[in-house]
Amino acid sequence: MSEVNKIDMFKNDVRYRENIAHIETIPAKKPSFKKVDNLNQKIVDYLDSKNVKLYLHQAETYESIKDGEHVIITTPTASGKTLAFNLPIMETMIEDKDATALYIYPAKALSNDQLHVLENLEKELDIKINPRTYDGDTPREDKRGIREKSRIVLTNPYQLHLILSWHHQWSKFYKNLRYIVIDESHYYKGVFGSNVAFLIKRLKRIANFYGSYPQFILSSATLANPLELANRLTGEEFKLVDNDTSPSGEKDFILYNPFKNYVRKKINNQAAPSVHMETENIFMYMMLKNIQTLCFTVSRKTTELIAMWAKKDMNQVKGQLAHRIAAYRAGYQAQERREIEDGLKSGKYLGVTCTNALELGIDIGSLDAVIISGYPGTMISTWQQAGRAGRSNQKSLAILIAFENQLDQYFMNNPEFFFDKPHENAIIDLTNPILQDAHLLCAAKELPLQRGEAEKYFGISQDVIDKLVDNKDLHENHRGDFMYPYDDNPAMDHSLDQISSEEFKIMNNGQLLETMERSQVYREAHEGAILINKGDTYVVNSVNLKNGYVNVSKEAVDYHTMVLNQTDINIKKKLSKTKYGDLTIHFGELTVSEDYFKYKKMHFSKVIGTYPLELPPLKFNTKGLWFTIPKRVKDTLEDMFPNEEEVFAGGLHGAEHALIGLFPLHTMCDRFDIGGLSTNYHEDTQEATIFIYDGYEGGIGICEKAVDVFIDLLNSTIDLLENCQCQSGCPACIYSPKCGNDNKPLHKNATKYILKYMSDLISKNIPEEDVKAEVIIENEVIPDEFDEAYELYEKGDYSSSKDVLNSIISNDKKHAPSLALMARILYEQDQKDIALLFTKKALSSDRSNEMANELEVLLTNKPQKETVELKSLDDVETLYEEAYDLYEQGDLATSSEILENLLDFDDKNSEALALMGLIYYHSGMFPKAIEYYKKASKINKNGEMVKELKMRVA
Ligand SMILES: [Zn+2]
Ligand SMILES: [Zn+2]
Repeated sequence: MSEVNKIDMFKNDVRYRENIAHIETIPAKKPSFKKVDNLNQKIVDYLDSKNVKLYLHQAETYESIKDGEHVIITTPTASGKTLAFNLPIMETMIEDKDATALYIYPAKALSNDQLHVLENLEKELDIKINPRTYDGDTPREDKRGIREKSRIVLTNPYQLHLILSWHHQWSKFYKNLRYIVIDESHYYKGVFGSNVAFLIKRLKRIANFYGSYPQFILSSATLANPLELANRLTGEEFKLVDNDTSPSGEKDFILYNPFKNYVRKKINNQAAPSVHMETENIFMYMMLKNIQTLCFTVSRKTTELIAMWAKKDMNQVKGQLAHRIAAYRAGYQAQERREIEDGLKSGKYLGVTCTNALELGIDIGSLDAVIISGYPGTMISTWQQAGRAGRSNQKSLAILIAFENQLDQYFMNNPEFFFDKPHENAIIDLTNPILQDAHLLCAAKELPLQRGEAEKYFGISQDVIDKLVDNKDLHENHRGDFMYPYDDNPAMDHSLDQISSEEFKIMNNGQLLETMERSQVYREAHEGAILINKGDTYVVNSVNLKNGYVNVSKEAVDYHTMVLNQTDINIKKKLSKTKYGDLTIHFGELTVSEDYFKYKKMHFSKVIGTYPLELPPLKFNTKGLWFTIPKRVKDTLEDMFPNEEEVFAGGLHGAEHALIGLFPLHTMCDRFDIGGLSTNYHEDTQEATIFIYDGYEGGIGICEKAVDVFIDLLNSTIDLLENCQCQSGCPACIYSPKCGNDNKPLHKNATKYILKYMSDLISKNIPEEDVKAEVIIENEVIPDEFDEAYELYEKGDYSSSKDVLNSIISNDKKHAPSLALMARILYEQDQKDIALLFTKKALSSDRSNEMANELEVLLTNKPQKETVELKSLDDVETLYEEAYDLYEQGDLATSSEILENLLDFDDKNSEALALMGLIYYHSGMFPKAIEYYKKASKINKNGEMVKELKMRVA
């Protein structure tokens, strides 16, 4: 049987084909080459001896680097990226005997792999570069020699962070530093990435100090924003090389959905599919067909479980294959791992289960098939895992098996999203105030900061420095430079993985198990929680918030815990609002308070107990986005679903969950990095509001990016809801595994309606493809803002009007016209209590505000006197008609009030005078009636009313 047939059997097998959501056949690709002129002869000889011709993209990389450009290359793993950037570096090493280069890798294992490559090049090219890794494992006695003799040093950010202040020991290296290589740079995102971006800029400053201006060479997996990432990491402008011209064999990429034919109903007898069992089943199938397979799973525990089940089952079916199955994960000894890596290459192992530890560049050769059990969280990881399958010129297979969550199910229903252009944005935030402070202190320790350097290297303004000086964290010397005045190394206190330096120690029997940030302790290691560490379960016995200790004990339990919380949000400062058509998304600083008040013990999905928690609320300042949903949506929904409760609240809550669930599609993050709140009424917006915020002190740029891509985020969320077959919500659409409210209330149809309503706002007036983001930076009061608010109010667009009013009030708390107009809108929206509050605020800053006075009467039921300011004769005409109508209806009192008002403005209006006379007549006040007849007839005897009055008084 040929290899090709074996690979194709799976998709045609009756046991599986019903669950296949999509098959994407990625065609085989032929290479294209380009010859490079003027290569150094040693390099030419080397390439000839290896029979290597350069691919087009390698040649372009080489040429751009030789032209002095900073280059980022984003072609796939096996496309020869490393050679592409090593060639120009080696050439420089040959031609300049002092030149040095620094290679930065996110993980130790990777720098070891690269070290072998460089050692080989050194030998083959017969040059002296003495490449060495310099990290926590480097023997002390070797370090000095490396600093003085190595021309290529490989390290990781953690090490660099600690040794940067010892730069004088590296002066020769820094003086000659020509290249900084940042490999796997997509790895630098979120908190870690933002820290590393500051670190790289510190490195650049040190190099500049020694007179060198190194060129940056970055490699990355495919991203939506490679140039932005490169710029944020280094502060430089880059040239992008992204055209892969290396050859590859045909590959089937199969999206496999165990839930495809399963509908979650309120009452359901059919058990939900088990993804793990399905995975094991397919893994077995491949091995029995003699297809060498790597199976990626989402956790260490499942890696072990699936290998264990497979061995057991294989013993029953084909015993001799059982010993060709293995599990591979981080935490194993280096020796055990190497044995499996080699065994994969030699074919000794037929099937290996693994965690994402095998996703990065470690060399294991190529396999026939890869199973990815559960979407690994990013498209980048998925493609890297899938890239493990594919031998030269042979057909290969990748199967993604979906879990029942939003992301997995979204891909199953929208394969084009997956196979089309890259959608993920790697996010680096350079505005987090805690990170700014921490890295400025490190930089000042490394070299005194001159005035202007914070701005130049880090984009941080002088205010931040001034504040650090005020706090005595920095000291200004007689030359006007800013020094770190203490003996310790501030880098030791600031971990690159975290924002705050506060660290909780999780202790088991007096031994350190792991460390956590405070927020993580609240969520995962509160008293009574079940903590999972390397697959073992631990019960949390006590938490000491003051000293930062958590005591746990190892215990095998058959339940897990889930904590519930209540979130409060205050808008601290509005930073911007972005308008997409008529939809406005706000962005700003928020104060979040999360109150973790109880937790549940669960056995699978069954609650076996609920326990109170006594923790002070977790308070932090962060950044987030928000938008409001007007009351008329609530009214419509209540009309649509008259007999259901909490329809609107359920819709808002569902929209919050679904949007957060799909955040990782567009911004590279974990859904646990963000939090949300939805409410029927929020006191800072006076409207129903949905907030989504970064779950880190100071914010980390996720929501800021989400504002940029909000239309895409909204559209994919709508798709998700449309495609989900469930009746009333499920984990694939609106349920959230981390909901602090226990997924209550939720309403699927209301969620759909709200999202659709938002989408209609975007394209109400123009087709969506023409909608451009209009970004308004919020800082000072714009003079005609109030007029805008009033106009919007008159148009009936209450939400937008409130929006504008809120921004005026947040800048000027005593702006009476705005306070009064806000009250007016709230009154009209039937929110009388709050309307009264705003009325009182308006009156206390301006007692004579007319609108507020009027509202006070309305809201406190004082008898009302109509006062209308008349401006034109048209107004007079209208008033007269109104008075006449009231007169006809017999409401003489109101009619006379209106007439009085009218006559104040126009006392020569004969008809009005006559009508007033008639009212006096009917009220029995004859002398008054005669008086008015005289007035009226003097002006116009022939008016209709005048004649009528004449008949009565004559
Ligand atoms: Zn659903
Ligand atoms: Zn929730």
